[in-house]
Amino acid sequence: MKIKKGDTILIISGKDKGRKSKVLEVLPKEQRVIIEGVNIRKKHVRPKKTGEKGQIIETPGPVHISNLKLICPKCGKAIRTGYKITSNIKAQESKVRICKKCGQEI
Ligand SMILES: [Zn+2]
Repeated sequence: MKIKKGDTILIISGKDKGRKSKVLEVLPKEQRVIIEGVNIRKKHVRPKKTGEKGQIIETPGPVHISNLKLICPKCGKAIRTGYKITSNIKAQESKVRICKKCGQEI
């Protein structure tokens, strides 16, 4: 997955097109993410006891990653990501995500 929890994304299609928001959860199997305030679904909750009122709970539904673009926290643009292999002092290699626009590690 190119998108991680906590990322800021831009929605590029659908009814929330043009909106920027934060990724709350990533569902790698489905290639979908849950985004704050986007694709809201209303759920009716029945009262548990008599005399209590039923509630409507609003929860964001999953959005497919093809509808999103990542916003680079370094340059602030909607970008595509790339990967770079780096090695640390112990010569262990690790893959880091980079912004294709500014080249910074994100
Ligand atoms: Zn950037």
